[in-house]
Amino acid sequence: MRFVHDTLPQRVRFASGAATEELAAEVAELGARRVMVVAGGSGREIADRVTAGLPVVHRHTDVVMHVPVDVARRARDAATEWHADTLVCVGGGSATGLAKAVALTTGLPIVAVPTTYAGSEATAVWGLTEDARKTTGTDPRVLPRAIVYDATLTRSLPVGLSVASGLNALAHCVDSMWAPHSDPVDRALAAEGVRALSGGLPLVVKDPHALDGRERTLYGAYLAAVAFASAGSGLHHKVCHVLGGMFGLPHAQTHAVVLPHVLAFNAPYSPDAERLLASAFGAPTAGEGLARLRAALDAPRSLRSLGMPQEGVAAAAEAVVAAAPPGNPRPVTLASITELVQTAWEGNPPR
Ligand code: NAD
Repeated sequence: MRFVHDTLPQRVRFASGAATEELAAEVAELGARRVMVVAGGSGREIADRVTAGLPVVHRHTDVVMHVPVDVARRARDAATEWHADTLVCVGGGSATGLAKAVALTTGLPIVAVPTTYAGSEATAVWGLTEDARKTTGTDPRVLPRAIVYDATLTRSLPVGLSVASGLNALAHCVDSMWAPHSDPVDRALAAEGVRALSGGLPLVVKDPHALDGRERTLYGAYLAAVAFASAGSGLHHKVCHVLGGMFGLPHAQTHAVVLPHVLAFNAPYSPDAERLLASAFGAPTAGEGLARLRAALDAPRSLRSLGMPQEGVAAAAEAVVAAAPPGNPRPVTLASITELVQTAWEGNPPR
């Protein structure tokens, strides 16, 4: 056995129902005196609750998915104008992503309070969008110093979004099995992530307010993100990145649709991943485990239903082939990727 595994320096608190106290403890530990809160949309109301009592100098609510550069510039200007010394982001990957954009140029520390299963809070990956093109990079400055996970804050996430976001997390686990820097530690985390997510998500669908399902799903989402942060982007993430950028498709839903197709594409060429995933799903094969889970969740099926035009299939396939990670278990060809994207567009089961 020979591998190199980087563990990211970050404190993680799981505390259902106690985000306010746990966040206050983290902010105090950082010695923060001037907090800028980043929270948009539904995150604003949650942020008002959990940041009550903090030394907040500014609440930044201008949050947009995929962090357009002008949105990032306004947030950076606000941090400078208000002399912020700490960023607290409350919300999904969009709020975390905006806080990361500020940290990238200012070096300010972030404390993240996630309210979806996107997992951005546990990675050092940032993303910015300009002219419909998303650029991503990795920088230790954007890794939040601490995460406060409070599953009660995810109760208000609608079931459809919970399913898509949870499958986004599951995609982090699956792709971590064969991504360029995948190692045995990543695969162990990813397998436990699959167990937690495949156990938790059906409970969320059954009763979105029940804490057990929300806690298991949030725990799985964290494990998924840690595995992904170390393993890097595999084929699945490259496909979703291309589709999201080219057609402006919703992030989590695109992951939910594409996942079974990439799994069917790669798993037969990666016996180790197949065995680990099948066992984690508790199913005879990985594909069957995912299919059963998706049926139980009534997961989104087609790229067509997300608004992708059929004429886009050929261009998307070309871009995926150009971006395909080296060392993908199955050789990537234009013909095979065109078939994959076409099948996902139609919403048919993977071939
Ligand atoms: P999001 O943050 O845009 O949230 C989706 C929607 O859910 C929004 O309308 C939001 O207001 C709402 N919402 C969030 N929490 C809620 C709650 N508890 N109750 C009710 N509504 C709630 O979407 P996302 O899927 O969490 O994040 C997507 C973004 O994160 C994308 O830009 C993606 O690229 C990025 N991302 C980055 C990484 C990384 O490692 N850098 C990882 C995953 C995702």
